[in-house]
Amino acid sequence: MLDLIIIGGGPAGVAAAVYAARKHLKTVLITEEIGGQSTVSEGIENWIGSPRIHGQELAKLFKAHLDAVKGDVVELALHERVVSLEKSGEGFLAKTKTGKEFNAKAVLVVSGAGRRKLDIPGADKFENKGVTYCASCDGPLFGGMDVAVVGGGNAGFETALQLLAYAKSVTLIHRHKELKADAITVEKVCAHQHMHIVRNAEPTEVVGEQFVTGLKYKDRDSGAVEELPISGIFVEVGVLPNTGFVEGLVELDAIKRVKTDPHNQRTSVLGIWAAGDCTDELYHQNNIAAGDGVKALEDIYLWLKKQ
Ligand SMILES: Cc1cc2nc3c(=O)[nH]c(=O)nc-3n(C[C@H](O)[C@H](O)[C@H](O)COP(=O)(O)OP(=O)(O)OC[C@H]3O[C@@H](n4cnc5c(N)ncnc54)[C@H](O)[C@@H]3O)c2cc1C
Repeated sequence: MLDLIIIGGGPAGVAAAVYAARKHLKTVLITEEIGGQSTVSEGIENWIGSPRIHGQELAKLFKAHLDAVKGDVVELALHERVVSLEKSGEGFLAKTKTGKEFNAKAVLVVSGAGRRKLDIPGADKFENKGVTYCASCDGPLFGGMDVAVVGGGNAGFETALQLLAYAKSVTLIHRHKELKADAITVEKVCAHQHMHIVRNAEPTEVVGEQFVTGLKYKDRDSGAVEELPISGIFVEVGVLPNTGFVEGLVELDAIKRVKTDPHNQRTSVLGIWAAGDCTDELYHQNNIAAGDGVKALEDIYLWLKKQ
């Protein structure tokens, strides 16, 4: 039996695996890929120690760091997807889609999340051609342009706030009449002269040629359809944590993120830890995920030594 199974190869999983190697914990890192969500980004600007780095380059550095320290302590099970995790004797059993099985005394769940996609005609076709899911990465590309934000929760308003630093105007499309974001954020955003809010509106189609040129939306009462002439659409309609394989095993919150103790990243089940974007951590950043992965590993190490 191994000491530890790490599920996920984003910043949280890789940081934890590096520490596991240094602490000589017999570990398997099971992941579909190394790098995580931001590998699709052309410019990560806030990874500490590098002012700007391409997502693919960051992924290569993660892999190089792992290869340099893993020795025969950390095994990499790459291109594997965990489909189930269950208690088994003194530890846990993880099964992958290809039929591989791994047993360990402890498990770290770092399977991250994906963005909920905008599910309207044109949204797929124009992804990365005007439709984007990350203001901190892509916002500067829309300097001086008119852009829209879809989603009126806190994430939508915070995205609007970031975009107001670059864009000519920002129009936020919100499904309901009442705003859901925190009053203070709403007040701050709405005070901006280039900010517009369209309430009670449902996006219906992304329009464009090579790139986005507009967003059609429908008034939810009258049914009237309008077209907003914009060059960029920032989607903030929620995230989907990759936690299906732990459903029914550990406690999840209302949107299926793993509930964790922020002091040590423990979950509701002794022997299972979680970190990064698959958890109920408030902030989603590479540095935070890596830090929480390391925090979990420190706690796992002490816990294993006491067994
Ligand atoms: C487009 C985009 C740009 C971003 N830009 C920035 C930025 O500039 N700066 C910044 O700080 N943050 C950025 N973020 C946020 C940042 O990427 C996340 O906060 C961070 O990646 C979370 O790390 P994580 O390790 O928790 O999860 P993830 O990065 O989501 O990694 C999860 C890992 O788990 C694997 N996995 C998932 N399910 C399974 C399974 N069942 N079995 C095995 N493996 C599995 C995945 O393949 C992946 O390797 C960006 C996010 C996106 C989407």
